[in-house]
Amino acid sequence: MSTATTSQSASSPVPGVRWDPVFDELGFPDDPSNLYTQTVATMLEGAETVGLQHRVKIILAQPKNEIMAHFPVRMDDGHHRLFKGYRVQHNNALGPYKGGLRFHPNVHLDDVKSLALMMTIKCSLVRLPLGGGKGGVKCDPHALSEGELQRVARRFTVAILNDIGPDYDIPAPDVGTNAQVMAWIADTYQMSSNNRTSTDAMRVVTGKPVEIGGSLGRNKATGQGVVDTLIEMLPALDLPMNDLRVSVQGWGNVGSWAGRILEKKGAKIVTVMDHSGVLYNENGFDCDALTEHCMEHGGIAGFEKQRTTGTGNNPGLGGEVVSLEDFYKTPVDVFIPAALEQMVKVPEAEMIQCKIIVEGANGPLTNEADEVLERRGIPVIPDILANAGGVTVSHFEWVQNKTNHMWTEEFVDAELNRYMVMAARRTLLAKQKFGVPLRKAAYCSALDHIGDVYKVRGIFP
Ligand code: NAD
Repeated sequence: MSTATTSQSASSPVPGVRWDPVFDELGFPDDPSNLYTQTVATMLEGAETVGLQHRVKIILAQPKNEIMAHFPVRMDDGHHRLFKGYRVQHNNALGPYKGGLRFHPNVHLDDVKSLALMMTIKCSLVRLPLGGGKGGVKCDPHALSEGELQRVARRFTVAILNDIGPDYDIPAPDVGTNAQVMAWIADTYQMSSNNRTSTDAMRVVTGKPVEIGGSLGRNKATGQGVVDTLIEMLPALDLPMNDLRVSVQGWGNVGSWAGRILEKKGAKIVTVMDHSGVLYNENGFDCDALTEHCMEHGGIAGFEKQRTTGTGNNPGLGGEVVSLEDFYKTPVDVFIPAALEQMVKVPEAEMIQCKIIVEGANGPLTNEADEVLERRGIPVIPDILANAGGVTVSHFEWVQNKTNHMWTEEFVDAELNRYMVMAARRTLLAKQKFGVPLRKAAYCSALDHIGDVYKVRGIFP
């Protein structure tokens, strides 16, 4: 029986977080800025709405395994540096643990736990036969040489060698890692054991280069999924489909692909922000040129001086530098936060002028910001739905590796669209059934499915 409370966030020790008795039962700290507490609170709200059994709620409120490893790496100048890595395995009731590996200076255990929980929910919402995990290494990959980066990736793989596996826990790229890093991990995994075939080794990670078993279409999959969900949701939410003006926060893998695909569908990307600056272009950026500029220069800064040749919507100068405030206040139809977690807090949520938000990043809004947007009537397509395209095509890659078969890019794109549309419709159905906003609806649909799985499986012994 559920022991959930009906108390609201006003009486909670953590602003924006509805304090559930499960927090006290499991001894959670009342830390307002803790992303993990916020994610669990969101999960518990959905759990209460669908009447999830208490025992499933407490299982999902903590990860199954939290692995932390320290490992030394020889740097180019000959000295050794000690790195800290994490792998959190949240839940594997639906299938092997699945989730990205992040290389970033701000990687912390609670953030990794939070992202691992989101993976469990995301896989369940999309009905993938996968569980949730996440990992990371606390480092700045941009400050490492290629050799150092490779040694970090390989030593970390050895540190967690017995905790990952092609049918047990399958990492993928995330912020600061890419297909090359996955290739080094697969190679290290295979080299570290005699009886692992190369086919098995390949399946231990997804997001690999196509040459060693990566899937066509994986690179753009998350951005593609953001666009697929947006297109499915706009008419359902009575929002206009044409001549979209779009703002993108973060022009990395997710943001740049979402921007490029939307541009090709006739949208104008008018404001862009990343760690290096903020740009505006009234006529819409030339998104291919902007992406090439980022690859060469590491960020969008400087693109304003570049004369583009007109492959996109806007031949002419790249754009103009504007303030952060202008970025948030520019009126657009669609706002896509696709950088890092919790970048949109209450002040930003008050400033944003848009008709809909599509979360490309994981957890880009704080719970309080979410409440502000709900009050302002701005719908939010939540991360667990909008950015599920990455894990969906990761699943396709894993299936292709398992069957020694390679799908065409057209087939991957069509299948991805089918999965994203189904997940979007499931979310809309839950919104209607429970009378809740989209984020809660997505959690409800996912948790309903997990609840059904636990009902059938039971809890050992
Ligand atoms: P990325 O490293 O390719 O890009 C990150 C972007 O964020 C860069 O443009 C960077 O400049 C920007 N950024 C970093 N710090 C910033 C700051 N302080 N202010 C403004 N911009 C900043 O990462 P990515 O793979 O595109 O991932 C972005 C988000 O999407 C993350 O939350 C990630 O977990 C999530 N995500 C990624 C995938 C995937 O397949 N890559 C899948 C699902 C979710």
